[in-house]
Amino acid sequence: MNAPMERRRALSAPPPPPADPIRIMEGLRRRVYVLSMGLGLLVLLILGGLTLAQPRPDMTTLGVYGGLGVMAVWGLVWLLRGGALPWAERVVIVCNAAVILTQFVLGAEESGPAQLLLTASNWGFLLAVSMLAYLALPLRAAALSFGTYALGTALTLGLGGLARGGLDLLRVHLSALPLLLLLYALAWYRERFTQEYTRRLLLETQAHTDPLTGLPNRRALYGHIETALAAAGPCSVVLLDIDHFKRVNDRYGHPTGDAVLIWAARHLSTGLRAGDVLGRWGGEEFLLVLPGTSPVDAWTVAERLRAGLHATPHPEVGEVTVSLGVAGAQPGDDLGRLTVRADTALYAAKNQGRNRAVLSTLGRPEEDGAPAPG
Ligand code: GH3
Ligand code: MG
Ligand code: MG
Repeated sequence: MNAPMERRRALSAPPPPPADPIRIMEGLRRRVYVLSMGLGLLVLLILGGLTLAQPRPDMTTLGVYGGLGVMAVWGLVWLLRGGALPWAERVVIVCNAAVILTQFVLGAEESGPAQLLLTASNWGFLLAVSMLAYLALPLRAAALSFGTYALGTALTLGLGGLARGGLDLLRVHLSALPLLLLLYALAWYRERFTQEYTRRLLLETQAHTDPLTGLPNRRALYGHIETALAAAGPCSVVLLDIDHFKRVNDRYGHPTGDAVLIWAARHLSTGLRAGDVLGRWGGEEFLLVLPGTSPVDAWTVAERLRAGLHATPHPEVGEVTVSLGVAGAQPGDDLGRLTVRADTALYAAKNQGRNRAVLSTLGRPEEDGAPAPG
């Protein structure tokens, strides 16, 4: 493909969708779970093998390993086939809570060190499950971990375990409680932090977004221009103003005027390069920041936008045209000077009959006679 065609295709292609942080995190979570399930399955196989190698294998333990193994295989298949993450998380958490309680029932006859070991390993298991629950589920999942703890303790009491285990067993039971509470406190803190962070993110987004068009607003554009000016290399801005927009409002009403603004915003945004930023400067004016772009290249972009809009009639209003003022950054420039030059060029475009792009020549006498389409 030759260069102009490539360029045209690049310009007409829709902008790449922005990376969605939630999707990225979900992808990471899925990979971590697949890895954990795979490793868990391996560990279960080794433990099962070791148990089987004993002279009198404990069938209860083997049953528990088998149950967990089935869960891990299901989880692996579910995750690898793209199944919903929350379901995998819920199934794993509930299965593990059930395994803990089953172990308390099945191990009710144990006494001495075996009883202590079983209880300690159950509570260790519960802490691990609670950690997953607090990471994956809302805070109310705490009911599940405290419920499992209470039920496990009640089962030990009810089945006479505490009478046999005495103080040592009581200590093992009680030692799990502060850890569970600490974990709960961390989960509570994390949830509050996430809520606050999300709220701030929303406020921040709202403060920098034009509610009508969804484009960056003037405040956001200030930041983008400052960043582009601070970077090395050229940078340009294009100020666009819809021609005779007052007539649209007068003739079709303000709501249609709003719809035209939304339509124009969408149309103008299509095909911009990654890094270019189009925002609403105010009213029926838009501003395009083009980092790393020379004034002449910026004028080409402006002219393409002008021609594109001109060639696309609005379904209700018909022909919509824009006038554009293009200005390139000069050494020692600031936001104010750059945008004033773009505004002056826009004013010239209006004066020359509208529906045209004019490149600012202010401060650059050698570029007199800058391009402006007829
Ligand atoms: P020119 O070609 O010289 O730019 O003429 P114009 O009619 O576009 O310019 P003028 O500044 O006279 O009018 C701009 C109009 O844009 C007036 C104002 O009511 C309208 N306007 C500004 N913001 C909005 C908006 O959010 N929604 C609607 N519907 N109209 C708006
Ligand atoms: Mg205007
Ligand atoms: Mg106007």
